Amino acid sequence: MANNESTKVDDVAKKSLEALMIDYQTTSQGLAQEEADNRLKKYGENTIQAAKKRSEILIFVENFTSMMAILLWASGIIAMFAGMLELGVAIWTVNVINGCFSYWQQHAAQKATDSLKKMLPSYVKVTRNGSVKQIREEELVPGDLFALQAGDSIPADARIFNCSNLQVDESSLTGESVPVDKGDQYQHGDDEFAQNNIVFAGTTVTSGTASGIVFATGMTTEFGRIAQLTQNQKKVMYPLQRELNQLTRQLTLIAVLIGVAFFLLAIFFVHSPIASSFIFALGMIVAFIPEGLLPTVTLSLAQGTQRMAKRHALLKNLNSVETLGETTVICSDKTGTLTQNQMTVNHIWLISKQYEVSGTGYFTNGTVTSAGQSVDIGEEADLKILLQIAKLDNDTEVTEGKKDEKSKILGTPTEAALVILSRKAGINSRHENQKFPRIKELPFDSKRKLMSTISKAQTGNPIIYTKGALSSELQICDRILDAGQIRTITDADRQKVLDVNEKYSREGLRSLAFSFREVAGQDPLVGQKIDDYTIKTAETHMVFVGLVTMSDPPRPEIFDAVKKCHRASIRIIMVTGDSPITAKSIATKIGITSDKAQVITGNELDQLSDNDLQKAVKGEVIFARVAPEHKFRIVSMCQKNGEVVASTGDGVNDAPALKRADIGIAMGVTGTDVAKDAADMILTDDNFASIVSAIEEGRTVYSNLQKFLLYILNSNVPEAAPSVVFLLTRGLVPLPLTVMQILTVDLGTDLLPALGLGIEKSEPGIMDLPPRPQDSHLLNRSIVIKAFGLYGLVASIISTCAYFFVNGVHGWPSVSLMSSGTGYAEATTMTLGAIIFCQIAAAMNCRTQISSVFSVGLFSNRRIWLGIIVEIVLLAVLMYTPFLQVVFNTGPLDRVEWFFLFCIPIPLFLLEELRKWIVRKVASRH
Ligand code: ATP
Repeated sequence: MANNESTKVDDVAKKSLEALMIDYQTTSQGLAQEEADNRLKKYGENTIQAAKKRSEILIFVENFTSMMAILLWASGIIAMFAGMLELGVAIWTVNVINGCFSYWQQHAAQKATDSLKKMLPSYVKVTRNGSVKQIREEELVPGDLFALQAGDSIPADARIFNCSNLQVDESSLTGESVPVDKGDQYQHGDDEFAQNNIVFAGTTVTSGTASGIVFATGMTTEFGRIAQLTQNQKKVMYPLQRELNQLTRQLTLIAVLIGVAFFLLAIFFVHSPIASSFIFALGMIVAFIPEGLLPTVTLSLAQGTQRMAKRHALLKNLNSVETLGETTVICSDKTGTLTQNQMTVNHIWLISKQYEVSGTGYFTNGTVTSAGQSVDIGEEADLKILLQIAKLDNDTEVTEGKKDEKSKILGTPTEAALVILSRKAGINSRHENQKFPRIKELPFDSKRKLMSTISKAQTGNPIIYTKGALSSELQICDRILDAGQIRTITDADRQKVLDVNEKYSREGLRSLAFSFREVAGQDPLVGQKIDDYTIKTAETHMVFVGLVTMSDPPRPEIFDAVKKCHRASIRIIMVTGDSPITAKSIATKIGITSDKAQVITGNELDQLSDNDLQKAVKGEVIFARVAPEHKFRIVSMCQKNGEVVASTGDGVNDAPALKRADIGIAMGVTGTDVAKDAADMILTDDNFASIVSAIEEGRTVYSNLQKFLLYILNSNVPEAAPSVVFLLTRGLVPLPLTVMQILTVDLGTDLLPALGLGIEKSEPGIMDLPPRPQDSHLLNRSIVIKAFGLYGLVASIISTCAYFFVNGVHGWPSVSLMSSGTGYAEATTMTLGAIIFCQIAAAMNCRTQISSVFSVGLFSNRRIWLGIIVEIVLLAVLMYTPFLQVVFNTGPLDRVEWFFLFCIPIPLFLLEELRKWIVRKVASRH
């Protein structure tokens, strides 16, 4: 650490909190908003500037230095030296246009990816003007007071106070993956970043809570400083890009070999001059190199991710698009993903009395009744205690929405429901908080499924309040509150609670149990320091108070999404912290499983061997009362079965499973920063249906890439066929397609329709197919056969016939035509025209794999039609512009010839429609 930096952090660490507040001109009320605004202007946004970008000029130039570009530069020079100046200039011009185009594609892809990054703001809870509010992390300024809890990423360098069991993962700074304990008091170790009461930007909270006072933001933080020092960006290649790179290389090699063979044949067989033989061979090479492949694929993937973003799924890297299409199993949380996370308390159960709560959603207009009668809280002592726990053992704030407006919650929906419940019962929260000030908390964690707070009662004694899952509560309670009396809890009491809980769970309701204990009399904690109130010492010998049940209805769109998954042979495994009965009730209601599904709880899971679990996850199964740590094992076992697994998660402990899954999916709304960091995809609406949309989009992008590949490969055959004719006849048949014409198709007319195929909408039925096997290749056998044996072959026959027809009309066959006669120019133009019009049919035919193009809408892809119009206009321009006629060896066609060209695509399109229809019929029979 630089000396002065070390001194600054050390200084902050050693100072008293009061002195620090004076230094940073702040108070326990936080900064005034106006002052915060001024500081934001002064210190700038709290962001780590992205690593120094590669120079834009360098990126631009790279597009002109690929192997194919170099070949074209060289050929241009050779053409110029061999006295074919126009040809040389034309080859260079085409090369420049092509380079600019691929730069544009790269740029567009980058822009698409960058815009996604901006779509996921991170928020932080700060205290300003004395009240807590949520702001974007970028708005944080030195002197701000902010709150931290498990799962948060630390937004700035800060001195901490009010710490409770705080542990921080500092691996991003120190490389050390074991979380470190933090506390309020200054202690300094020997290492860097060892100040015990300082947290650093870029690290994450793994457990506990704390408050912080910011002393450095943005690039002045330790993380910013390191980022500045190590700003080198590594370019990562995704498997799909790697596969395409390899494919491009293989095809290039084949192209060069063919080129060399043609070069030698032209010299020794046809006795052409060396320079023109070279240019001729070049035509072959250009025809076969799939030059635009990589940038087009990258752009297509980037556009795919943008479409996904519109459907609420943000992908962190393009690679996941491919994996999404292969997904065979989704391990999904229940609460908030399958359900709405709109908790409403509807029953309160105490052993002596039961209550109903009316009013749904986050509206306070509802009441608490018992046996149909409104209740007066003042008279219901047990109920009052339950409501007190519900309110005090709670970290969530609910701001009242205006009339009929949704309330805003700062915290979790489960706790928000309890806040609303206490409001419905008429409890004044502020009053209650003042009466029982909190002195400590033992935060919720999904393993023990409990949360406790310790408050000071008016008697001066500490009171421990605990809420959580019934199964966990029953383990820590040995007494029960019964009509104002505390007595020992009996087995009959326990059974009674379990029975009523089961009844509610069968209705799909979620329950939460409440208990308390006043530390007085013989209590072992009497006289102990507050630090001694731990999970072990505090959450024991509790007094059971009662249960509340909450409804959390399934999301309305979930039913269709689940059906879609089943049609697409994607299995869904519900993995929830909720009770087995509630889980099964919801799973069957939604249609995820039948009621025969096996339910495995976390405890049972611990007893299962890997082998048994591997078998279990093959069938209909639900995991309930599991901790996030279990998810890791479930995902791993599915993967052992050869499944491609997508798994959802939101908490800090979900991170390992999210990383392990082939697609880790974090919740954008309720998820912690840690989960979002670990995930590959983030749902901006936390909705399961968005996962299904993303899978559909992933399948579509992949199939569009195959369509694109088929399209650009199939034109190679008719481009190569004329040269074969030329060689086989030892030059007796003049070359039916010149090099410039090959370049016209390959680097000109093919580009726009190919791009259009990249944005084709999902083909109907794409979600009726099983997932693509993991070992499948983009360029598969069916594409090769179609490209070379079907589309390409037919186009070769048509274009060669067209050539011979026009050549014949003009006095076939004479080699002398080659240099002079307009007949030859017209004949080659006809070959060119025929290839272009065959490509028009191919563009249409490639749009669907087996569905009819009419089913996706003949005119629904405007970009393809635009490409087709541009192609035809370009052909006409080449044909009728005198100066271009010389360069491209073109000549004007007459009306009959144009008519012939326009007729070409119709039968090709209709025949392909017929073929697809037959394929569909055969498939439906099977
Ligand atoms: P899912 O895992 O599908 O999201 P979940 O919300 O029920 O479902 P967890 O968050 O792990 O899963 O919660 C497990 C259990 O812990 C819940 O069923 C509930 O009984 C209890 N619980 C949830 N939130 C709290 C909380 N804030 N305080 C105390 N107990 C809680």
